[in-house]
Amino acid sequence: MRRVSILGATGSIGQNTIDLIARAPEAYDVVALTGGRNIAQLAHDARRLKAEIAVTAHDECLDDLRAALEGSGVEAAAGAAALCEAAERPADWVMSAIVGAAGLAPGLAALRTGTTLALANKESLVCAGGLILETARRNGARILPVDSEHSAIFQALRGEDMDAVERIILTASGGAFRDWPIEDLGRASLSEASTHPNWDMGQRITIDSASMFNKAMEVIETREFFGVPPEMIEVVVHPESMIHALVGFRDGALMAHVGPADMRHAIGYALHWPERQGLPVERLDLARIGSLSFRTPEPERYPALKLARQAMERGGLAGAVFNAAKEQALDHFIEGRVSFTGMAEVVEEVLTRLDADTDVVDAAMTLDNVTRTDHLARQCARNVMAERAG
Ligand code: NAD
Ligand code: MG
Repeated sequence: MRRVSILGATGSIGQNTIDLIARAPEAYDVVALTGGRNIAQLAHDARRLKAEIAVTAHDECLDDLRAALEGSGVEAAAGAAALCEAAERPADWVMSAIVGAAGLAPGLAALRTGTTLALANKESLVCAGGLILETARRNGARILPVDSEHSAIFQALRGEDMDAVERIILTASGGAFRDWPIEDLGRASLSEASTHPNWDMGQRITIDSASMFNKAMEVIETREFFGVPPEMIEVVVHPESMIHALVGFRDGALMAHVGPADMRHAIGYALHWPERQGLPVERLDLARIGSLSFRTPEPERYPALKLARQAMERGGLAGAVFNAAKEQALDHFIEGRVSFTGMAEVVEEVLTRLDADTDVVDAAMTLDNVTRTDHLARQCARNVMAERAG
């Protein structure tokens, strides 16, 4: 039996992971499940999977979790420290699927045990790629990508020599507003931005897909994960979302990964790696699909792409600034306090204001410094938004 833990078990990635694990209960021994405020879901899954421990991120939810788990034999805990303790419990495979920078500390805690970390939480690579990779290296831990594009690249690179790689192409659906007139984007509503044309995902990543902040973060994630320079990473809009990424080699060959828009493929690949096992995903009928299309992402529609390149060029902790400013701007967009196009303007302003602050951006990449930079960038973003509003 393989011991597995799922951080962010109640979310979209977490639930897809549980779907796969629950199909073969005899193969898995579930150690820890973590979630947020969705206590009913967390307790339901912890009971049916016979988890050792269930953890909510929120202290005030602990009584509800305890009540929901009464008589089940599943331990209950709450809070940030408990999340890290759960992530540290010995396991063979840990899914990192908390959304946002909140996934960084639990992911690092898991890596320190030398486990295999299936990494969906791209924000941790954006904020602290060097720290994540170094922690894995020092502890003999392995990181497997779960983001569909990075899983696709990882699969296309199997057996290949990195020196032969010329470029990596990330595909992007273009999100909810790919066909909107650009001048209308400033009026895009929360519900319009929360509907993805192809993928069924959590709300935050869905909005990030509409703004292309998701792809912008994935460019940084690609740089960190595969160690390729930013100029080798391209983005192409591919509205059908069937090709997840392509790797271009020096002989001109492009290896494309083609599959349905179902995260259970990438999750299952990471779960069974290095084997390939059967997965309950749709088999594509190419003749029925007929054709696939591609277009250049327009810079005026998707300013986030340029901002990610700016952050990579700046280096140091600029990725943490970029991510935190984006998370804060997104919070305000969800609360109706900044417009859809305002999000990128706020991130750009925060990057500019903190650029000169070498004390912040050029500090050593430790968890404490990344956390401090994250707080400062969020504060700066709130200031920028308050100035814009007033
Ligand atoms: P989601 O919002 O559906 O779920 C997020 C999970 O994190 C939930 O379990 C929630 O309770 C937990 N969580 C939220 N805030 C937390 C906090 N402060 N502390 C601890 N736990 C917290 O998100 P998702 O769509 O499943 O995405 C999870 C991660 O996977 C993100 O990093 C996202 O970018 C990445 N990802 C998602 C998809 C997808 O298809 N959904 C695809 C690729 C990558
Ligand atoms: Mg992706």
